[in-house]
Amino acid sequence: MKKLLFLIITGIAFFLNGIKAQDGTCGTSVSAAQITLENGISLLPLKSYESLSQINTELSVTVYIIKDDAGLNGIDGAAINTAFTKLNAAFSSVKLKFRICNTFYINNYQFNSINVQNEKDLTTQYISKNTINLYFASTLTDKEGNLVPGYTYMPADQADAIFIDKDFIAGNELIHQFGHFLGLYHTHEIIFGAALVYDANCMKTGDCCCDTPADPGITGVIDNKCDYTGSAKDSKNNFYVPSINNYMSLGNDACRCVFTNDQLNRVIYTLKNQKKYLW
Ligand SMILES: [Zn+2]
Repeated sequence: MKKLLFLIITGIAFFLNGIKAQDGTCGTSVSAAQITLENGISLLPLKSYESLSQINTELSVTVYIIKDDAGLNGIDGAAINTAFTKLNAAFSSVKLKFRICNTFYINNYQFNSINVQNEKDLTTQYISKNTINLYFASTLTDKEGNLVPGYTYMPADQADAIFIDKDFIAGNELIHQFGHFLGLYHTHEIIFGAALVYDANCMKTGDCCCDTPADPGITGVIDNKCDYTGSAKDSKNNFYVPSINNYMSLGNDACRCVFTNDQLNRVIYTLKNQKKYLW
C-alpha cells in the first residue's frame, strides 16, 4: 500500500513538473485602455515608394533573474546575450537597439513563479524607472490561469515590464514580447474586427497593419517545413494566405523571422508618442 502511495505521489510530482508553457501561446492581452488608445491612432500604411524611417535609438533594459528554491539562476548570461543579439537584429532596419544596462538577481524564489497574485509585489520591489524591466522566471501564469512562455503590457497600460519563461530564451519569444511592448498586436488579433483577405479597411482591422496578410490563427497548421496547411476562409469566402514567418504570429516559433514595414512604422510611432520617456 505504501509502495502504491509512493508511486502515485511521484507520478503526480512528475506530471506537475512536466507541465510547461507551449509554443503557440502568449499571455499578452489587449486591454480596454489599449483599445481606446488605438481608436485615436491613425497610422497610414507605408506606400511602396516610401522608405521606412529610422529612429536611431538605443534603449536601456534592466534584467532581473529570479533564482529558484535551490538558489540557482536557471538561465545563463551567454544565452541572454545571444537573445539580445537576435532582438537587435530584428529591429535593426529602423536602427533601434536594446542594451542591458544592469542585471539583478532576485533571491526570493516565490517570484520564480509569476502570476496575477505576486506580479505587483515583484514589480513594486524590483523596478528601474525609465528603462524596460525584463524579468526571467521559471513559470508564468496568465490571468486565465494558463502557463505562457511570455507576456507584457501594451503601451496604454503604462507598465515597462516584460516577463519571459527562462526555458524560452533560445527562441523568438523575447522579440515577440518586445513587439507587443512597442505597440504590435498578434497578426490574428480580432478585437478590432477580423481582417479580411482583401481588406480595404486593413488599418483598422486585425493587427491594424496593412502589409501583414489576414491571419485566421495558425497554431497547429504549420508543418515542419514552415508551410501553412490550413484551409480556413474569411467571411467573404476567400481562403486565408497568412504569413507563417511573422514575429507577431503564433505558429511555429522556428519559422518566425520578420517584422513588416507597417509593423516597424508602428514601433517608431509608439516610441515617439507613448514611450518617449524611456532612456
Ligand atoms: Zn503575443
